[in-house]
Amino acid sequence: MDIPKGKYLGTLCKRGHEWENSGKSLRFRSDCLECKRIRGLINREGYKDRCNELARIRRDNAYYKKEWVIRRESTKKWLAVNPNYYRERSVRERISLADPYIKRSIIQKSKLKFKDVPLQLVELKRIHMKISRLIKEMKNGKQ
Ligand SMILES: [Zn+2]
Repeated sequence: MDIPKGKYLGTLCKRGHEWENSGKSLRFRSDCLECKRIRGLINREGYKDRCNELARIRRDNAYYKKEWVIRRESTKKWLAVNPNYYRERSVRERISLADPYIKRSIIQKSKLKFKDVPLQLVELKRIHMKISRLIKEMKNGKQ
């Protein structure tokens, strides 16, 4: 196994790009090289247009349409069996201060859109919420 000069084997990246069955990712300055390559492709001019074109073709294609209807129907059936799914999920998100919960709370007080909420803001808001909860607990006499 030849590791290219200046590169090293680090922890497996979140996309699981493995370098020659080593169980590790080939990295350069902490970046996974395969992820970097994909990012490059995505950013390359015209890529997004091609993706949109592909999505449009799929939308108009009877086969994909059928697939989509099947998936939507099976989701409906599943929800009929688990009617509390969304409510329970939002309770879990509130308890664990998960990103979606924090983002929703941020967009309520700003003109940001859900997808435009910066991660740093989510982190700060999470710290703020943790502290508020601690203060509340202390006031209620719980430790
Ligand atoms: Zn990777």
